[in-house]
Amino acid sequence: MKINHKQAIEDFKDFLKRGKHRITPERFEVLEHVLNYKGHFGADELYIEMKTHKSNVSRATVYNTLELLTHCDLLAKRNFGDNKTHYESNFNRKNHDHLICTNCGKIREFSNPEIQTIITNVCDELGFELSDYSFNIFGKCKNPEDCKQ
Ligand SMILES: [Zn+2]
Ligand SMILES: [Zn+2]
Repeated sequence: MKINHKQAIEDFKDFLKRGKHRITPERFEVLEHVLNYKGHFGADELYIEMKTHKSNVSRATVYNTLELLTHCDLLAKRNFGDNKTHYESNFNRKNHDHLICTNCGKIREFSNPEIQTIITNVCDELGFELSDYSFNIFGKCKNPEDCKQ
């Protein structure tokens, strides 16, 4: 267990207790893999990745733990326009948005403080309390060398 994941583990434990969910080692095993996953993933990708690492956690546990982690804000759900739910860790990560290539499927992240300002302003003006937002830019990589599967 990595020391920098301690806070995430504590948060998840509190969340499970509060919601009267069972605290099982399997759920924390899923959390550990989520925190170590580089980039965006689907539930099945995480499940396969865990299998590769000799984990015995069931697919159902992976699915329902991802759902719990989303409610607990440790995990973000993303929609990249392909009818698939993508996840990424929210823990210790900066707000960011995505560029999605519709040709090769590559997803790039970027952060622009002006976008954050616009969102805050719009919510203030319209008396809206922000919980989440999604901002995706779809297009194609300009450089054909970058645009490979
Ligand atoms: Zn991302
Ligand atoms: Zn591309």
